[in-house]
Amino acid sequence: MHSEQIFPKLEIPATIAAGPGPGNTDARVLAAFSGAGIADHMHGDVLRGMIECKHMLRQIWGTDNTYTFGVAGTGWSGLDVMFSAVMPGDKVVMFVNGTFSGIDGLTVRMKAATAEELAANSLDPQPASVTIVNVPHGESVSREVIDAALAEHKPKWAAMAHWETGSGRINDIQAFSDSCEKHGVMGLVDAVSSLGVEDFRIDDYPGVAGWASCPQKGICCLPLTYAPVSLTDRYIDALKASGTRSFVHHPMMEARHWGIIDGQDVEKGTYHRTHSAYAVAAFHEALRITLQQTVAQRAKDYAHHEAALRKAVTAMGCEVTSNMTSLVVLNLPGDLAGREMELVQNCRARNFGIWPTLSEPVQVRIGILNLLTEAAVTDIVTRFGEAIEELGGSIDRAAVEEVLDTHYRAALAAE
Ligand SMILES: *Cc1c(COP(=O)(O)O)cnc(C)c1O
Repeated sequence: MHSEQIFPKLEIPATIAAGPGPGNTDARVLAAFSGAGIADHMHGDVLRGMIECKHMLRQIWGTDNTYTFGVAGTGWSGLDVMFSAVMPGDKVVMFVNGTFSGIDGLTVRMKAATAEELAANSLDPQPASVTIVNVPHGESVSREVIDAALAEHKPKWAAMAHWETGSGRINDIQAFSDSCEKHGVMGLVDAVSSLGVEDFRIDDYPGVAGWASCPQKGICCLPLTYAPVSLTDRYIDALKASGTRSFVHHPMMEARHWGIIDGQDVEKGTYHRTHSAYAVAAFHEALRITLQQTVAQRAKDYAHHEAALRKAVTAMGCEVTSNMTSLVVLNLPGDLAGREMELVQNCRARNFGIWPTLSEPVQVRIGILNLLTEAAVTDIVTRFGEAIEELGGSIDRAAVEEVLDTHYRAALAAE
């Protein structure tokens, strides 16, 4: 290969995004992205769009938090902004029950480590001020575990994933908020997978001071647009007191472009960094779609279709270990145990994009982000059944069809 080679134009095929995320982008969002007509991020319509996004985001999060806005990038970008108030030496308790909360824990350890602790093991620091509470893969973080750890350590911050997408488990944010309030702790929640899928209002959880999500899961926008964050005044006061060593991910500086200055909404944003008119247009349309469908209706639709998928794969002999409504995490039938990765790779080779778990044990993850129709779920079930048969497994196709049919007919009858 010569360094001056020009490659053929990159063609990327259409896939069914039947994994934990990114989800299937709505055609309206893609049209908004490619239809934006200007590159100028200080144009009046772009700034107005950002202000409108901020107001729509407050409705979707269910909050009066002034510091509610989007962070350019993906979930980790929003999380980096949320964790930016964690400073070296801060006492933190982090609950970990899978891949993503595990990485949140790494973020927290990097931010809370002193200079010496970071230098001692810079890619995996182990600061004395951070306690990682590990909960086994496949289990949720419970009220008892949360309260025992916060009572014992009385940290400044505590952090947890709301929906741990690695293992498909929902963690108890009510218990987390209650316990944070009781012990005077500021809670930080990774809501990357839950926003736009579950019906919850963050103002109902006063123990939680910071929330962060992503563009491309429940909000159905494109990756590398905007990751929603929402921070309470208490969080902002703590941040103001300590400062943070970032310009670009400084929550107060970042918020200025969204028209939030000194804790107040102002009419027009001011320059923080170059924003993308295309990303703003796409994000704006995704938020409009969410509000038009309503978060409550979406949550119902996710529960309904996840139940259908769960029943169908169970009828194939799989064991489901998750309890999220956008994702099913399962073990294959006994005779195919250990062949999860092979099955996933076969499916992915056909542009049927299901996923393995990213940490041990290897399980199969099938998601339904923005695939909320009987036809889409039936297609997923059919393809997954074929993949099991291809590996030599046997399924009772008639029984699987019957389960789906009964589920969807019962719903129609109830209407
Ligand atoms: C997907 C996910 C992330 C990472 O988000 P990116 O958009 O990949 O940066 C973090 N936390 C949870 C719970 C997730 O589901």
